[in-house]
Amino acid sequence: MVQILNEREKQVFKKGESNFVISCDKQSTSGSVSQRACVFCGSRVVLYPIADAVHLVHGPVGCAAYTWDIRGALSSGPELHRHSFSTDLRENEVIFGGEQKLESSILYLIDRYHPKALFVYSTCIIGIIGDDVEAVCKKVAWKTDIPVIPVHSEGFKGTKKDGYKAACAALFRLVGTGAGKKKSGPVINILGEFNLAGESWIIKNYYKQMGIEIQSVMTGDSRIEEIKNAHLTDLNVVQCSGSMLFLAKLMNEKWGIPYIHVSYFGIEDTADALYTVAQFFNELKILDRTKELVVSEVNALAVTLNEYKEKLKGKKAAVYVGGAFKAFSLIKALRRIGMDVVIAGSQTGSREDYEQLRLMCKPGTIILDDSNPLELSGFVRETGAELFIGGVKERPMAMKLGLGFCDHNHERKIPLAGFEGMKNFAKEVYSSVMSPVWKFHPLRKGGVS
Ligand code: SF4
Repeated sequence: MVQILNEREKQVFKKGESNFVISCDKQSTSGSVSQRACVFCGSRVVLYPIADAVHLVHGPVGCAAYTWDIRGALSSGPELHRHSFSTDLRENEVIFGGEQKLESSILYLIDRYHPKALFVYSTCIIGIIGDDVEAVCKKVAWKTDIPVIPVHSEGFKGTKKDGYKAACAALFRLVGTGAGKKKSGPVINILGEFNLAGESWIIKNYYKQMGIEIQSVMTGDSRIEEIKNAHLTDLNVVQCSGSMLFLAKLMNEKWGIPYIHVSYFGIEDTADALYTVAQFFNELKILDRTKELVVSEVNALAVTLNEYKEKLKGKKAAVYVGGAFKAFSLIKALRRIGMDVVIAGSQTGSREDYEQLRLMCKPGTIILDDSNPLELSGFVRETGAELFIGGVKERPMAMKLGLGFCDHNHERKIPLAGFEGMKNFAKEVYSSVMSPVWKFHPLRKGGVS
C-alpha cells in the first residue's frame, strides 16, 4: 500500500476508482518532498537560453547552483548564458542591504562582457531584506543604455509556475522595444522551446521547408534583438503551455497577436502542430509543402517504429514531468511504440490538464499532481512499471528501483522533438527498458527493498 499524506489525498487518483476532482495548482504540502523547484528556478530555466544576455543571480551563491548545466540549451553563436554570475550576498549585505553590491556587479559585468541585455534574478533573501532591485536596474540601464531587467522571482513566493510568469513578465518588458521591420511573408514566433540538444533547429527547419519565417524563438538559441522585435509577427505558436502561455496572452492583449498551443513530441503531435500552423495561414503553397513534409517524414519512420513496437509491446511506463501538456504527447508517443502508461503526473498541471489526462488514460492508471519520491517509487512498484520518464530528480529514483529511464527534461543531450526526435525517443526507450543490466538489480531479482 503506497503511503500518501492526508493533505495530499486529493492530489492522487486511480482512474475509475473514485470521483475524479483533483486538487492542484497550489503550493506544495509541508512534509512532502516535492519534485518541484522554486520560483527562481522556474524563471531561470525559461530565460537562461537567451545567449547574448548576462544572467545575474542576486542572492547567496548557493542559488546560483542552478546553472546552464541543468538545462543545456545550445547556442549557434554567443554563449554568455553559460556563465553563472551571482552577487554572492553575505551577512553584511543581509544586514545593511545589497543594492550597492548589485549596482557595482551589474556595472562590472556590462563593462567586462558587453551583453545585449542583463537579467537580474531576485532570490528569497532579496524579498526578505527588501532591496529595491527595480530602482537599481532602472538606474544602471539609464547610465549604460543597456536593458537591465529585473526578474521578480523570490523563491518562496509561489510555485515553479509563478517563476515562469515572472520570466514572461521580464520578456514582455523587452518585446516591442525594437525598431526592426516585419519580415515579408508569413511570420511566427515559437514560444516555450528552449533548444535542448538543438531541438529548436529541428523545428525551425520544418517551418523553413513550409515557407514560414521565424521572428524569434523564446527562448531557445535566442537573441535580445529578435525578442525586442517579437511583436512583428502574425502568430505565436506556443509549446510548453505552463511556461509561455502567459506571455502569449500578454502579447495578444497588447498587439492582438493570436496564439495557438502545440506540441512537437511524438509523430501525431508534431504533424498536428505543423498542419495547424499551415491552416492558420491557409495558403495553398504552404499547405502543400506541409503535407509533403509530414508524409515523407512519417513514412520514413514507420518501419523503425514498428520494429520497436514489436519488442516493447505491453511494457508499462510511468510518466512524471514538469508540465502536463508534455505528458499528453508522451502517452501518445508511448502508445505508438506499444507501451502502456500506468502512472501519469506532473509538477504544475491545471485542473483542465488533469481532466484531459483522465480522458486519455486507461482505467487503473494512477494520476498525480506535485508528487514526491515516496509516492512515485511506491506506485512504480505497485504497478510494475518498467520505464520511468521524468527529469533529473527522478533519474536516481528509477535507477535505485531498477527500471529503465528516459530523461525528457532539462539535462538531455539527445533531441526528442519532431520526427527525428521520435526516432531517438523510441531508440532510447528501447535501449533502457531492454538493457540486460536490470537483471542484476537486487529489486528485479526479488531482493531487498
Ligand atoms: S528557494 Fe530561495 S534560497 Fe533556495 S534556490 Fe530558490 S531562491 Fe535560492
